[in-house]
Amino acid sequence: MSLALFGGSPTIATPPRRYTSIGPEEVKAAVRVVESGNLSQYVGCWDPDFYGGPNVRALESEWASYFKSGNAIAVNSNTSGLMAALGALNLEPGDEVIVSPWTMSASATAILVWNAIPVFADIELETFNLDPASVAARITPLTRAIVVTDLFGHPARLSEIMEIARGKGIRVIEDCAQAPGAMYAGKFVGTVADAGVFSLNYHKHIHTGEGGVVVTDNAEIAERIQLIRNHAESVVADKGVSLLTNMIGFNFRMTEVEAAIAREQLLKLSGLVKSRMVAAERLTSALRDLPGLKPPFVRPGSSHVYYVYAMQYDSSVTGVSRSRLIEALNAEGVDISAGYLNLHLLPMYQKRIAYGSAGFPWTGGLYRGTVSYDKGICPQAERAHESTVLKMEFCKYVYDDETIDRVAAAFRKVWDHLPSLKDL
Ligand SMILES: *Cc1c(COP(=O)(O)O)cnc(C)c1O
Repeated sequence: MSLALFGGSPTIATPPRRYTSIGPEEVKAAVRVVESGNLSQYVGCWDPDFYGGPNVRALESEWASYFKSGNAIAVNSNTSGLMAALGALNLEPGDEVIVSPWTMSASATAILVWNAIPVFADIELETFNLDPASVAARITPLTRAIVVTDLFGHPARLSEIMEIARGKGIRVIEDCAQAPGAMYAGKFVGTVADAGVFSLNYHKHIHTGEGGVVVTDNAEIAERIQLIRNHAESVVADKGVSLLTNMIGFNFRMTEVEAAIAREQLLKLSGLVKSRMVAAERLTSALRDLPGLKPPFVRPGSSHVYYVYAMQYDSSVTGVSRSRLIEALNAEGVDISAGYLNLHLLPMYQKRIAYGSAGFPWTGGLYRGTVSYDKGICPQAERAHESTVLKMEFCKYVYDDETIDRVAAAFRKVWDHLPSLKDL
């Protein structure tokens, strides 16, 4: 059988079924809310309804109890949750916040929103999460917080990062958009750091179209997030809030419809996560012995919930470039792509164009540090992006046993034909 790339028939002729977590339960829940006529109950002034309607409140209490966290605050996206959580930390303009270059852009822009300065630390290759040694090396007297992403569904080295922050007045916010339900040392990710931010965007394990939830055990952080979510500045006087910094309020409110859907989605989370783990483990056992390919690593004490199934590829072992390999796999019907991101290389950081055209907030006299966004500051992240990482977006399809076996067969077929693909 010749490779599909050279005219043979593809291993996977029709694409797998699209993944969706939405079913009749969500339809019923949404209809109930719409029929009630109460689509959102918030008021943006100090009032009992400042905290939202019955479904928002119920979702928050169910989310907090599921994840074993002191508080859960529903918001309208992970992005707004990150903005609220960082605003809750009393950052001063010009403070530095350490973040990974391998995360969605919002993990870093949520820092800039408060006129604080993102400082990128490098990743470790095993999980593509922040490398604690690099984080430690980037700490300066200006460091006030760390945003740590549990990338692709695998927890970061959270205790080492918490240890680095401890005693230095540095807060840690977890961006767990990709890792709902992943465990770290017996706790859910999101509950290890000072606050954790989940996404309910439609690309994620569970969703409400758009939405997010922040969890924290810290009552003061929780209150400040609730304020920022709902027009803080017009509430603080009547509510008697005394800590008045960063009290720019937004409208980050989740609607009753989304909250009702989220309550149903939460009931499905563990089942959906489990089936994705089963699929990933099946694929890993099938690919484990292919030369030059390293399936995802799962660190002892952590669980991986596989938002993305990310592999490392070594073209020096096969003699086939990563781009050539991807062409061959794509032709066989495997949806796989190269690399991820390097946020520090985006125009916003290269040109320092966050606000206005004069380089603010890096310029303007507030920032006393010397952050660099030069190519080369995160060598592991850059190399992994440019030459080693292969990723399958596990969140896109239903990977049942049969589909996984066909994906594995496509890999094996390509590996059987490596000599015909050699381009190095
Ligand atoms: C999806 C994602 C976000 C953004 O989530 P939204 O709910 O769409 O705002 C942020 N961070 C990471 C790591 C993500 O994967």
